[in-house]
Amino acid sequence: MQYNEMEGIKELHQEVWENCLKVIRDNLNYQSFKTWFSPIKAIKLDNNILTIQVPSQFFYEWLEEHYITLLKKTIRNELGPNGRLEYSIVMEGAYTSDPYTIKIPTSNRKATTNPSVQMPIDLNAGKSKEIPNPFVIPGLKKIQVQSQLNESYSFDNFIEGDCNRLARSAGYAVACNPGKTAFNPLFLYSPVGLGKTHLAQAIGLQVKNNFPEKTVLYVATEQFTQQFIDSVRSNNQNDFVHFYQMIDVLIIDDIHFLSGKEKTQDVFFHIFNHLHQKGKQLILTSDKAPVELKGLEPRLLSRFKWGLAADLQVPDLETRIAILKKRLYKDGIDMPYEVLEYLAYSITTNVRELEGALISLMAQSSLNKKAITIDLARQMIDKFVKNTAREISIDFIQKIVCDYFDIPVDAINSKTRKRDIVQARQLAMYYSKKHTKASLATIGLHCGNKDHATVLHACRTVNNLIETDKQFRTYVEEIEKRIKF
Ligand code: ADP
Ligand code: MG
Repeated sequence: MQYNEMEGIKELHQEVWENCLKVIRDNLNYQSFKTWFSPIKAIKLDNNILTIQVPSQFFYEWLEEHYITLLKKTIRNELGPNGRLEYSIVMEGAYTSDPYTIKIPTSNRKATTNPSVQMPIDLNAGKSKEIPNPFVIPGLKKIQVQSQLNESYSFDNFIEGDCNRLARSAGYAVACNPGKTAFNPLFLYSPVGLGKTHLAQAIGLQVKNNFPEKTVLYVATEQFTQQFIDSVRSNNQNDFVHFYQMIDVLIIDDIHFLSGKEKTQDVFFHIFNHLHQKGKQLILTSDKAPVELKGLEPRLLSRFKWGLAADLQVPDLETRIAILKKRLYKDGIDMPYEVLEYLAYSITTNVRELEGALISLMAQSSLNKKAITIDLARQMIDKFVKNTAREISIDFIQKIVCDYFDIPVDAINSKTRKRDIVQARQLAMYYSKKHTKASLATIGLHCGNKDHATVLHACRTVNNLIETDKQFRTYVEEIEKRIKF
């Protein structure tokens, strides 16, 4: 089929790729598909070779490592047994417009070095809005309740992933029907930095959108406690209780801070009962599940279990990438895709830290007038991620492996194909993949100037041997111990 834009006829390569995508979509979850396949563009089809464009070296390696079987199958389905795939890596925002190309499944694949990348930065764009002033001291019946909601914590800005699907959809249901679902109270729990406050606020914002006449209030537990103490001091405890009993949707954040505060728990118990009986919605967040909360009265804990308790978990890589992308988009900031991936890949525990790393990287770059590059990101992460107390480098790994087998380190970097050296080289690659953040290409480069495919092959070989060869497994375990201590 000839290309004819005017008549809206699709080029053949696009059609082929779209057919592949249909199959791929059916085999992946939504977020993975969106992260790894939506950004791909099909560029051409020549001699049964389909060329697709991907935004970074890391991206390509990730596809190769995780989706190659699926890709091969779909390509062969479309193009027959001789069908082949070629990647063209074009980095977003790179100065150079020269893509470099990687062929698959030929054996001689090699990536050239990355073009340098520089991005404009606007630090002001990253500033988050301030939460409005604490609300008026309760007492007057007709006061306008300031909801204390932060517009940026919306559902739109909350990325859905396997980690938060239940909590998010329950939250959404509550926002559409406050007080009328079985999720009352809705109890959201997780360790810090995984989105409880964001999600709880999103529900509040959405209720206000859907039902402008409803009174929504977000309050942190510490604030609630302080207000109560103040009301006791000034002898208007009743006003305090009445104020809270007027609310239609009450969001109390970090309820675990009520622990040990018996008087506040008592007053909260009465407020809770009143609101619940009246069919008003309660949304609570906590750092633990109700059963694990300590220092709270049993009658409160049992009420926390009336509705739905849903946890937020650590997001997977795809979700982390999507969160960073959204954040950059929202703030109008541009950053090379590979740096974004690198951040998401390196910081795994907590969304707040992930965002902290992003902000810190932008600040560093702006203050020192350095371009945002992988190297800058790497330096920053090394300082940022506290739990990598001792950096394990490829060189260090090579030394441990060679010492173990009593061979000179140079041997690994030589061309020799002697069996014991090959094995040491493969092990060095395997441990480097496991313990460093280096890309497959970098590992290959430092272990005998091999390409990334050789590294992948080495990792597979080692994994196979671990499973089948007991002696080998013992080697691997002993070397592992030396690397770690
Ligand atoms: P917690 O209350 O659990 O400590 P927060 O709600 O304060 O966590 O989240 C920490 C940061 O991470 C916030 O800036 C929030 O916007 C962001 N965040 C967490 N989860 C998500 C998500 N799923 N999508 C987008 N941003 C998120
Ligand atoms: Mg919070």
